[in-house]
Amino acid sequence: MNFESFDLDRRILDGIRLAGYVSPTPIQTRAIPPLLAGRDVLGLAQTGTGKTAAFVLPILQKLLAHETSLNRGAQVLVLAPTRELALQIHENFTELGAKTRIKSVAVFGGVSQTPQVRGLDRAQVIVACPGRLLDLMNQGLADLSQVNTLVLDEADRMLDMGFAPDIRRIISRLPSQRQTMLFSATMPQAIRSLTREYLHNPEEIKAGASAPVAAISHAFYPVPAHLKAGLLEELLRVTDHQSLLIFTRTKHRAKSLARKLESRGWASTFLQGNMSQNRRQESMTGFRTGKYKIMVATDIASRGIDCDLISHVINFDLPDTAESYTHRIGRTGRAERSGKALSLVTSEDADQVRVIERALGQAVERIQLDGFDYSKAGNPGPRQKKPARTAPRRSGRTGKGIFMDRP
Ligand code: AMP
Repeated sequence: MNFESFDLDRRILDGIRLAGYVSPTPIQTRAIPPLLAGRDVLGLAQTGTGKTAAFVLPILQKLLAHETSLNRGAQVLVLAPTRELALQIHENFTELGAKTRIKSVAVFGGVSQTPQVRGLDRAQVIVACPGRLLDLMNQGLADLSQVNTLVLDEADRMLDMGFAPDIRRIISRLPSQRQTMLFSATMPQAIRSLTREYLHNPEEIKAGASAPVAAISHAFYPVPAHLKAGLLEELLRVTDHQSLLIFTRTKHRAKSLARKLESRGWASTFLQGNMSQNRRQESMTGFRTGKYKIMVATDIASRGIDCDLISHVINFDLPDTAESYTHRIGRTGRAERSGKALSLVTSEDADQVRVIERALGQAVERIQLDGFDYSKAGNPGPRQKKPARTAPRRSGRTGKGIFMDRP
């Protein structure tokens, strides 16, 4: 199978070549034909499968099929949960449509709205986070009256983040005659309802099901909680990595871990929810270009991290759910390249370990790292209480203790 067989406009094929894609990924093979035929599509696909291009390519084709209407204003709306993902989708449109006149604009909060409003005047494609878009619509600055194609990307995450009311308000103001596609890594009941409400007889496509891409290998590193930081450093020393993404449970831990690693000579940065847009951009660009080999992130901030070089994902803290584990490790092995998922697990993680192994359908290898001194584990000192995940934030941060050097 190659891209030529989709009968795409020559300029789109040129864009594909420029992007360096040789053959379509499975979700592209399955989603592009029905989308080109104008069908609604429900895609169960995690990031890393090539799902973005799976909708970008047919949308470009549809726009070019009515090229004389390109000056009519925005015809395509893509809703995405985070600024990073919105920017990544916008860049995909720009890259694959480089040889066309089609323009896209990324719309998200936390930055001045002026350049975005200017972009809205010229763009055929709006890629937006729901909150800022609704804000602009309410100010009369975003005209969606010509939208005939709607994409809800990472719909499960948008619902998790509480965007459902905003999404409904936005859709209620779109023309009802349109092609709609919804992509989600998981298919909870709320997504099923959304699908029934907004998609018309959709073609259902699964890529990678809800299990992580096959190219990824998994390993658990059992360790007492107070030795996690030491074991992590040893892992960094012994693994032959390109770019490496580390996950922590809290924003504070992400920041302090990145700073700690930086002070130990590892070029590291972090990404977490309450950073300025400029700071996020600096982190992401630095990570993508290799200035930082290590990125430490929280789950929410990690959505949309698109870096082809990630060779390893390390769960410094194990996530709460199997879905979250799948999302995290979807950041490595992108577009079916191989990747490694390493997780530090403590005795308190036993429940999550079981849930993850059940979801993977396999037992994950437990590894004791040669050369690491686990003997300090013999004197763990007073047991650290794990911060309750749902507990309200207190000013005396409980996460502080992660680098306590114990004897
Ligand atoms: P996504 O799942 O959309 O986040 O895409 C994951 C990564 O795969 C991105 O870096 C894309 O640029 C890349 N990609 C998408 N489609 C292809 C393809 N057919 N061949 C090679 N790389 C691809």
